[in-house]
Amino acid sequence: MTKNKAKLIIFTGPSGVGKGTMLADFFKRVDNKIVYSVSCTTRAPRDGEINGMHYFFISKEEFEQMIKEEQFLEHACYSGNYYGTNNKFVDEKISQGKSVLLEIELQGALQVMKKRPDAITIFIKPPTFEELENRLRGRHTETEAAIQKRLAAAKEELKNIDKFHYIIENDIVDKAVDKLIKIYNKETK
Ligand code: 5GP
Repeated sequence: MTKNKAKLIIFTGPSGVGKGTMLADFFKRVDNKIVYSVSCTTRAPRDGEINGMHYFFISKEEFEQMIKEEQFLEHACYSGNYYGTNNKFVDEKISQGKSVLLEIELQGALQVMKKRPDAITIFIKPPTFEELENRLRGRHTETEAAIQKRLAAAKEELKNIDKFHYIIENDIVDKAVDKLIKIYNKETK
C-alpha cells in the first residue's frame, strides 16, 4: 500500500495566467487528500466571490492585528491590498495528513520557501506576456490602473521563475491541469 505524504504546495503565477480556472478543474479531478488554503485579503470581493470560500474578506485593521498576533505563515501587499495565509489552518491540515495548496503571489511564495524549505513550488507561466495582458483585460474585473499594477507585478514574478521546482505553461487548461496532477501524484504518493 502506498502511503500518502502530506506536502505544502506553493502555486504561484502572474495575475491573469489562469490559476483559478486550473485549480477549479484540479480539485474536481483529485482525491480529498489535498485542500485549498483560503487566504485573508483586504481587497473588495468581486461579483460572485463568497466570504470564507474564495477569501476571508477582512478590513485593513483586522489584517494588521493578525500580523501583530503572528497569525500568518506569510503575507504580502500586492497591488495595494494585503493578502495572507493562515498559519493555524496549514499546520492543522498537514498534521491531519492532508496536503495544502497555497495559491499565492511571489513575495509570499519566497517567504514560505524560506520558512518551509520542504515545500513543493510550482510556477504557472503564460505562453507570452501579450497573451497574459489579453487574459487580464478579458476578465473585465479590474480597472485600467489595477491592470497596469498587475502587469508590473507580473514582470517581476516572471523574473523569479527559476526559483521554482516546477514550471507549467498554461496554454491549454486541460493539458496544464494534467501536468499539475502528475506533479501532485509524484510528490505525495
Ligand atoms: P486576486 O486579487 O486576483 O484574487 O489575487 C491577486 C494575487 O494575490 C494572486 O496572484 C493570488 O495568487 C495572490 N494571493 C492570493 N492569496 C494570497 C495569500 O494568501 N498570500 C499571498 N502572498 N498572495 C496571495
